[in-house]
Amino acid sequence: MKKLSIIVPCYNEQETIDIYLQEMKQVEANMSLEFEYLFVNDGSKDDTLLRLKAAANQYTNVNYISFSRNFGKEAALIAGLEAVTGDLITVMDVDLQDPPELLPEMYEKIQEGYDIIGTRRYNRVGEPMIRSFFAKKFYQIINRISDTEMVDGARDFRLMTRQVVDAVLELTEVNRFSKGIFSWVGFNTYYISYENRERSAGETTWNFWSLFQYSLEGIINFSEAPLIFSTLVGLGSCIISMLAMIYFFVSSLLKQNQVPGWPSLVCIILFLGGLQLFCLGIVGKYIGKIFTEVKKRPNYIIEESHCKSED
Ligand code: UDP
Ligand code: MG
Repeated sequence: MKKLSIIVPCYNEQETIDIYLQEMKQVEANMSLEFEYLFVNDGSKDDTLLRLKAAANQYTNVNYISFSRNFGKEAALIAGLEAVTGDLITVMDVDLQDPPELLPEMYEKIQEGYDIIGTRRYNRVGEPMIRSFFAKKFYQIINRISDTEMVDGARDFRLMTRQVVDAVLELTEVNRFSKGIFSWVGFNTYYISYENRERSAGETTWNFWSLFQYSLEGIINFSEAPLIFSTLVGLGSCIISMLAMIYFFVSSLLKQNQVPGWPSLVCIILFLGGLQLFCLGIVGKYIGKIFTEVKKRPNYIIEESHCKSED
């Protein structure tokens, strides 16, 4: 029987873990796969770890890894991918926003020969309007400026073959934007759509500012368009100011009693100064990325773990 490894990142999820496992146990009973759960406790401040320990005692196929602090969901994902041994691997949120009942259908598609079965929400019911609006804009922009296609509404919930996971693990970059990475590796992908659902319990840890930063990560990690943009803007303003210089020079030759050009001078200085700062900011973003890459810090630090397959 094939083994399915399920990676579940958890950050302050004490209320949702038990609900999640109850649901999953029903799905598990109806599928001809050996299930293995790997919960990744991402430095939770509540009783998540205690719940995980209890679950690991209760079920033989529940394992966990616990980080020394909160490293973020991306780190939890990569820790999980590195640790699991299954033939098929899936990543799920613990809050049941990734519907477990899709798993049988996803497995069927894998058997048909697909390598990655992704899921996407076809609507965003229950989400603040402004958040949906900016999410949509983000996907429009990123798909225009990056070669890597990112599907609007695609979740991290996907079922993958071992081959795909091995490919993903070969990307050793520290700045991980997994929506991009999973699409970058390629393979035969099939998307299943479903209606958005709200959290089973607890609260989301994402606010508008963190989502904004997350989308910047996506753009900087998967596109060089901002660099090209800043070059073009710089070039454009150079040309414009050269034309202006010629114009002022000629007009001061032709007319006498030229009024000293304070306003235009100040305008030009401000404009160019602002432009330089803006372009420097863009370049700085990329240099910052290079800095974190060169430091080669680990993505996460494990404080304790419980993986039965290791014993
Ligand atoms: N999560 C995590 N580390 C974090 C934030 C979130 O492991 O720093 C986990 C969280 O426990 C959940 C999943 O990532 O299982 C998705 O988080 P959430 O539901 O808050 O995000 P949303 O569904 O609102 O995008
Ligand atoms: Mg959620």
